[in-house]
Amino acid sequence: MNSNNKNDINRNRFYSCNDMVRLSCKECAGCGQCCENMGDTVKIDPYDFFIISSFLRKSFDELFDKKIQVHREDNGLILPHVMQSEKDKCVFMDMNRRCSIHKYRPGICRLFPLGRNYERGTFSYFIVDGACTKGYKSKVKISQWLGIENITQYEKFVSDWHYFIKEIAIIYNYVLNSGSNTDLDLYLLKVFYRMPYNVYNENDFYEEFYRRLNHVNQSLESIKKMDPIKDMIDECYM
Ligand code: SF4
Ligand code: SF4
Repeated sequence: MNSNNKNDINRNRFYSCNDMVRLSCKECAGCGQCCENMGDTVKIDPYDFFIISSFLRKSFDELFDKKIQVHREDNGLILPHVMQSEKDKCVFMDMNRRCSIHKYRPGICRLFPLGRNYERGTFSYFIVDGACTKGYKSKVKISQWLGIENITQYEKFVSDWHYFIKEIAIIYNYVLNSGSNTDLDLYLLKVFYRMPYNVYNENDFYEEFYRRLNHVNQSLESIKKMDPIKDMIDECYM
């Protein structure tokens, strides 16, 4: 489900959530190929974690090593992903090769076969070439395909989280390369996943998420203004 290959992007055009595109796989009888052999690519952002943990009524620590694992990204940060079984199938795939948490599935699963192209502090969608080669695809509005109620709020969250992670990675690597120790990687996991959200709807989730985000940003404010960190952060928004 890794959909950020530049070669894939170059061959495609970009869309907004209001565009109608050929995505809907009417002949999809649940072959389940998109839920196998995904390695650690089905990443879970804080919104994904909130809806999955609310549905399963389990905390991060309760889901860890049963449904969720963590991996170290190329940028050094530690982020969670959906686990695979020993047979390289997603642990949420049921006996009929269907998703047992379909309504609560992670954003990357909702996207498939779309990818996101981030640019200038925001993002657009593109179709990943060859992601699903099964059957005729009928047209569907992207917002409908994603199946998220408050798409404007969700897209803002997706973008804010993406660029926040980029900023944190810059700071994390700068501190490490300066020869100092940092637990920013574990801190991120604790603040946005391990600490229970204790909220019961999406609006309250976003409020709580942004409260935590602002808290972390404020605590890193002085380091973000340092040279060359400031320049590196500015570059990631281009
Ligand atoms: S690979 Fe395509 S046809 Fe198979 S389950 Fe996924 S979306 Fe459906
Ligand atoms: S969470 Fe559901 S849709 Fe996503 S990979 Fe697992 S089974 Fe497939």
